[in-house]
Amino acid sequence: MTVFKNCSIVLPERVIPGYVVVEDGLIAEIGFGESPYDGVDFHGDYLVPGYIDVHVHGAVGHSFHVGDEVGSSKVAEYHLSHGTTTLLMGVEGALDELAKHLPYKGMPKNVVGIFMEGPFISPERPGAIDPNFIKPADPKGFEEFLTEFGEQIKYVAIAPEIPMAKELITTAKRFGIRVSAGHTMSTIEQLFESITWGVGSVCHTFNAMSPLHHREPGVVGGALLYDDLFTEIICDGIHIHPEVVKLLFKVKPHDKVVAITDSVALNGMPDGTYGRRMVRGKLITLTNGITIAGSSLTMDQAVKNMVSWGIELHKAIRSATANPAKLLGLTDRGVIAQGLRADLLRLDKNLDIKEIYVEGVNEVSHQ
Ligand SMILES: [Zn+2]
Repeated sequence: MTVFKNCSIVLPERVIPGYVVVEDGLIAEIGFGESPYDGVDFHGDYLVPGYIDVHVHGAVGHSFHVGDEVGSSKVAEYHLSHGTTTLLMGVEGALDELAKHLPYKGMPKNVVGIFMEGPFISPERPGAIDPNFIKPADPKGFEEFLTEFGEQIKYVAIAPEIPMAKELITTAKRFGIRVSAGHTMSTIEQLFESITWGVGSVCHTFNAMSPLHHREPGVVGGALLYDDLFTEIICDGIHIHPEVVKLLFKVKPHDKVVAITDSVALNGMPDGTYGRRMVRGKLITLTNGITIAGSSLTMDQAVKNMVSWGIELHKAIRSATANPAKLLGLTDRGVIAQGLRADLLRLDKNLDIKEIYVEGVNEVSHQ
């Protein structure tokens, strides 16, 4: 058994002083105040659940491609070193391309499945997605694809306004897959209707979607209005103005904001030009230097950003842990509670990561 004592334990609703006992990879006990056992002394450092990223594509020069074991492992390891103990591999592309490498063997241990961003999205809102990866709706092909590979697919973004979106969304739901509305020009009415088909979340809220207009509230209006929708949000301070992130936290129920990185391959790469894109510090753009071409965010930085903008610590942490777990239906993690996985992070007062535990095992120490 391992004991962490003198911790500031971050729970979904508050931060408490206390201790946590880990046994066999699970949280065996959580207690308030002084620990009755000896153990690792946190000296007041924060103990938080491992971060969960439902929307991440790459890092350190690699993208998640279901065929590339080495590259995908490097991406997963990079994000693990920034506290992400659970993630989905975010992929784009046509079904037949993805099918070539499925079912995917050798998933890194912090990967629990695949997030498909498309291919059934609006060509009018491609964002940074290659327009060649956007395909017309094909419910029959989608059903066949999921019959074969549905077990590894956990989450898919679909534009609710495209023809036959209902068939696509209900098919995904039949396979137990979560569906987000993304890369979409839907009206608020179309979005509302799609909730009845099974849409449960909004893909990178505010980005690549119909905006809020007072006579046409769009997907943004619906994302803010409908309490039952989870709302993904990129908290890098570049994709979304910090005040808009604060607006989202103010309007949404506290269990519905989901921090994502939407990190791409150039995250973690030195400044320079790479094909059509360039990196300057945290900014990734096309070579025109203006058009944003992906995020260089990591989840530890997302949490630090939110807190620096005035969002309460437990709410920021919750958006990176309990809420994405709930979105995906992962009931074994995301909260520090008895019986759940001991995926845990030790953070110092600046919210920098000092230690990372996966199922109770110390994976990374940044002392
Ligand atoms: Zn994405």
